[in-house]
Amino acid sequence: MRVGFGFDAHRFAAGRKLILGGVVIPHESGLLGHSDADVLAHAVIDAVLGAAGLSDIGKLFPDTDPKYQDASSLTLLAEAARLVIGKGFKVTNIDSVVVCEEPKIAPHTERMKQKLSAALNLEPERISIKGKTTEGMGFPGRREGIAAYAVALLE
Ligand code: MG
Repeated sequence: MRVGFGFDAHRFAAGRKLILGGVVIPHESGLLGHSDADVLAHAVIDAVLGAAGLSDIGKLFPDTDPKYQDASSLTLLAEAARLVIGKGFKVTNIDSVVVCEEPKIAPHTERMKQKLSAALNLEPERISIKGKTTEGMGFPGRREGIAAYAVALLE
């Protein structure tokens, strides 16, 4: 058994789509980033890679590479999963937390699980996504951006 941990944060930016866990969520602003800035997918990618001892998202999919401009993070997640499986691991489960004051995460978690499930080739019931606020404290509390944390267990 191997456990991995991932964290990511992106700031809000006007004029971009908000994509979390591969789902487009109606909101007044999206997140800034070189790829689609899917902060949840990025945390999951780092958890999975970390558990397998496979470096991290920044080294595998560098934001200086034009190939990853506006890239779908689900595609990057599927690629990370392929690398992990190629090392002889099986993903057992993912647990994750998305931290923001808004939008509300709970109404979208089932669709996010379906998207992450397809990218990871993992049953949706083995994926957990929870939304939390920081009760107004810190950068998520000031509505400056969204953070995400994820753990992955590999066999
Ligand atoms: Mg990121």
